[in-house]
Amino acid sequence: MSERTKPQSFPVFLHGHGLKYEIECILKAFVPAVRFQFYYDDLSLLKESVRFAAIQLRPGRACTYFYCAVSLGGKTLRLAQRTEKLYPQENKQQCETIICKMLFRLLQELTGLDVPWGILTGIRPVRKVLPLMEEGLTQEQIYDTLRRKYWISDEKLNLVYETARVQRPLLQQTPKNSIGLYVSIPFCPTRCSYCSFVSHSVEQAKKLMPEYIRLLCKELEIWGRMVRELGLIVDTVYFGGGTPTSVSAEYLEQLMQAVEKNFDLSHIREYCVEAGRPDTITADKLAVLRKYGVDRISINPQTMNDEVLKTIGRRHTAEEIVESFRLARSFGFENINMDLIAGLPSDTPESFHRTLEQVLALDPDSITVHTLTLKRAANLFAEGASQLDNPVREMVRDSIAMLPENGYLPYYMYRQKNTIDNQENVGYAKPGKESYYNMLIMDETQSIFGAGCAASTKLVEPNGMITRVCNYKFPYEYIAQFDQLMEKKQQVYEVYNRIREQEAANAEE
Ligand code: SF4
Repeated sequence: MSERTKPQSFPVFLHGHGLKYEIECILKAFVPAVRFQFYYDDLSLLKESVRFAAIQLRPGRACTYFYCAVSLGGKTLRLAQRTEKLYPQENKQQCETIICKMLFRLLQELTGLDVPWGILTGIRPVRKVLPLMEEGLTQEQIYDTLRRKYWISDEKLNLVYETARVQRPLLQQTPKNSIGLYVSIPFCPTRCSYCSFVSHSVEQAKKLMPEYIRLLCKELEIWGRMVRELGLIVDTVYFGGGTPTSVSAEYLEQLMQAVEKNFDLSHIREYCVEAGRPDTITADKLAVLRKYGVDRISINPQTMNDEVLKTIGRRHTAEEIVESFRLARSFGFENINMDLIAGLPSDTPESFHRTLEQVLALDPDSITVHTLTLKRAANLFAEGASQLDNPVREMVRDSIAMLPENGYLPYYMYRQKNTIDNQENVGYAKPGKESYYNMLIMDETQSIFGAGCAASTKLVEPNGMITRVCNYKFPYEYIAQFDQLMEKKQQVYEVYNRIREQEAANAEE
């Protein structure tokens, strides 16, 4: 392993504050594949460190002093700044912005790298644009505000603005008192090498499957009762995982019957199933989906390069993806999404370009371009080192140019921690084919009731407060502790009581 690729720890000294999260995000953008070691109010190791970042905040009598020093590649740079009196607890946001900008400046000078999202570290960039649109700011004013505040590049500003422009009128149509229902099937035929989800191989989970499906149907019955008692409207249904179609047609039918029996589906605007891997798509399963009103499916090639498919541990070819897509169309599915991943191991910009061309030739209704995210497993740092030269930026750029040229507009976007080159994930759709569930999960303005293991329930109150109720991650835990898990659902009543009180108070005003 060369010096450059050797995983090393990087000490970060914080003095006078504990603003770790944002600092770590900025550091990661410039110095990937490194384990950051944080020290609080202890500079004793500073002198011994070959490379380090030190960020000090000191409120004085009339003002606050900020100091930032970074040492990297044998060079040390420092910055100091004095502001009005600020305290890290009371003025967290302001302090964070000042610190991030100082750190960013030093890292940029030391590395010469260009970080397109600037100091914006949140996972929902569109939410920075929507409120400015609500305030009535022009496009130019929005660009100016975001450029000044976060130092975002024009390329990303265009992308996030366009995404917000497309999704804003769609979000405004969200029915009052509505929820999204998420059904989790956390099984896959095999595990892809890059997977960071909790997914279990169907083979291994075979024995657990009948009991898992039985209890999932029971949970749907419990949710159905709650939805009725609380007078809620089911707006979208989403079967995700894993790969929901990795279970048999009979199990799918059992689950869809449970959804149909326990919920009033007369108001739903979208019923989506992640058909995910083409090696799980069969005529009998597609027939079940059609029978129960599924109107959007996702067939996810990730790449159309057979060699890359092999490298990531997929047991199917690009030709099988084409066959599955055509089979789904022949069953009358008029809203098919295809997921791609930029930056997969062994992929190249040329091959990614060909993937885009091949997927466009199929004419799906939406295309989602993810950027490879490093797994959170123990080998993250070793894995990260091998990704230092990943040409992902070129691939992402290609998709940003090519998809709108072909009639697909960006309509939802999110960023993830540990994504290669700090890039984003973007859903592009033909007008009218956008997924409401995807937009609303990112906008966090609609509650989601999650059923099944690894599903999380997100309860959104009108004041923006969010309560999460999480199910166990593993099927055996879900099965063994099902009753205790269902007791946790009492929280839902408590939250909805609060929601009703807030609504009543708002109505009185
Ligand atoms: S299909 Fe998706 S969820 Fe399943 S193993 Fe691959 S990446 Fe993970």
